[in-house]
Amino acid sequence: MRVLVVEDEVKLAGLLRRGLAEEGHAADVAGSGDDALWMAAAAEYDAIVLDVMLPGADGFQVCRRLRENGVWAPVVMLTARDAVEDRVAGLDAGADDYLAKPFSFAELLARLRALARRGAVERPAVLEVGDLRLDPATHHVSRAGREIRLSAKEFSLLETFMRRPGQVLSRHQLLERGWDYGYERRSNVVDVYVRYLRDKIDRPFGRDSLETVRGAGYRLREDG
Ligand code: CA
Repeated sequence: MRVLVVEDEVKLAGLLRRGLAEEGHAADVAGSGDDALWMAAAAEYDAIVLDVMLPGADGFQVCRRLRENGVWAPVVMLTARDAVEDRVAGLDAGADDYLAKPFSFAELLARLRALARRGAVERPAVLEVGDLRLDPATHHVSRAGREIRLSAKEFSLLETFMRRPGQVLSRHQLLERGWDYGYERRSNVVDVYVRYLRDKIDRPFGRDSLETVRGAGYRLREDG
C-alpha cells in the first residue's frame, strides 16, 4: 500500500512512517492540511491516516475537502480522545474509520488493511492469481502450495501486480505505488525488482508469468 500520513507531530509522524515502511508499505508524511490536499491530488494513495489536530484547517475540514476534490482513498482519522463527537464529526466529514490516541500500531495496520480491501476496486483479503497466492495480512506468498520468501519490497511489488492481474503497469505507476518520496526514484529500480521477483515466483517453477510489454511496462498474466 501507499499511505499518506497527515500529522504535524514530527515524532509520531516519523514513527508511523517507519513502521509502515518496515511492513513494506510506502508512506509519505504531510505536516499540514494544505500539504495533504496537494499531495493527495498529486499521487494515488491506498489509504490516508489523518490526525484531527492540525495547524490551520483541522482534520475534519481536510477530510471534507479531500472528498470535495474527488479523493476517495479510505481515511482513518486519529482522534485525540475517544470522544463521541469527534468520531461523529470525522465519519460525517467522509472518514471511513477512526482510532483514538494513543493507539496500537498493529491495530492501525489492521484497520488500514481492512479499508484497503473495501476500496472502490475489489480487494479481497487473500489475493489469488492462477496458483499464485498472496496474503497481505500474514505476508505469506506461495505458488502451487509452495512457500516463497520475498523481501518487503518484492512483496509490495508483487501485491501491486496481483491487485491488477492482466493489466499493463508502467514503470512510473509501479514506482508511484511502491516507492515513496524519500526514495531516490530511478525507473531502473523497478526493472531490478521485477528481475528479483521473476527469480522467485517464475524461474524455479518453469513459469513466465511476469511479462515485459515493450515500450509500456510489465504485466502479470491473468492465469498466473
Ligand atoms: Ca497533530
